[in-house]
Amino acid sequence: MTKESQILVTGGAGYIGSHTVLELIQQGYSPVVVDDLSNSSKESLIRVEELTGAKIPFYEIDIADSKGLASIFSSHSIDGIIHFAAFKAVGESVEKPLAYYRNNIGGLFSLLDCMDTYGVTQFVFSSSCTVYGDADDVPIPESASVSAVNPYGQTKLMSEIILRDVAQSRPNWSVSNLRYFNPVGAHPSGRIGEDPSGIPNNLMPYITQVAVGTRPFLRVFGDTYPTHDGTGVRDYIHVVDLAKGHIAALSYQKTVQGVHTFNLGTGRGSSVLDVVKAFERATGKTIPYEIVDARAGDIAEAFADTSKASEVLGWSAEFGLEEMCRDAWNWQSKNPHGYEDSSGTV
Ligand code: UDP
Repeated sequence: MTKESQILVTGGAGYIGSHTVLELIQQGYSPVVVDDLSNSSKESLIRVEELTGAKIPFYEIDIADSKGLASIFSSHSIDGIIHFAAFKAVGESVEKPLAYYRNNIGGLFSLLDCMDTYGVTQFVFSSSCTVYGDADDVPIPESASVSAVNPYGQTKLMSEIILRDVAQSRPNWSVSNLRYFNPVGAHPSGRIGEDPSGIPNNLMPYITQVAVGTRPFLRVFGDTYPTHDGTGVRDYIHVVDLAKGHIAALSYQKTVQGVHTFNLGTGRGSSVLDVVKAFERATGKTIPYEIVDARAGDIAEAFADTSKASEVLGWSAEFGLEEMCRDAWNWQSKNPHGYEDSSGTV
């Protein structure tokens, strides 16, 4: 794979996708984006074009549309795929498991068929630490046992298994499973960031919406976990660091074949109240909160053992928690309604 390589980014208009597209361009790659815009805005790509001066080929189709997908592979010389496009809400996946299996697994099948047809051998998969379920020990190494506890997590785990089996039968393929911990923050320009639809499920976008006045207070889900202050502990990682992890994986894949699995986190655990305090320090805003019952299905503590990514990929996260909060707030305060207010929104 040369630096001018065309990389197909599925879900490239989404939160992590758009940051990765930006990073790809900055590191000399040529991304081609496919996104059905079901949970994202084309405005994110318009802004990446503004930030980079690059023109990004964009296709608004569902990747499960095999014919539409094939036409992209016919029009471009695709050298590798970074696959983000998937439904991602845990709660919704419990309500609509079939939709999650159909979309997340069906989309993967279309992509793998195109890899065979068009001779593509490089694949980077957007996996999740959710595959560890409630891990026995922290920090969690890639070798920890896996067990998904909801349909969303199952789709990530099944996708990893499908990729493993298919790659075993195609010895020239190289696949990276990137298990993300908790991506937060935004590009420091404040031009692209996370734009959840409706009430945010995740902690950081909820906090930024409290700070901007959209929500009155944060509900802290439980304070009796066996953690240093009783609130849940997670490994928050700046989305720009996460995006760089994808480029590191692509670069590594040039040198190896087979399936490789990496945790992408910081290796540091922060509680809900640690995040609230860091946000207040970084932004000068006060975040009112109330302790409420624990959320069903939540685990006490998860943070990554990042030594493999550091040793093998030569990648490690650089931003700290306050910088994540600063950049999350910079994005939210400049875009109080996300991409919605932008004239370029489609
Ligand atoms: N959390 C919270 N209030 C919220 C959203 C999340 O207290 O409004 C807590 C949640 O219980 C967990 C942590 O924040 O301990 C991170 O939650 P998030 O949903 O962002 O990530 P996940 O639970 O999927 O790791």
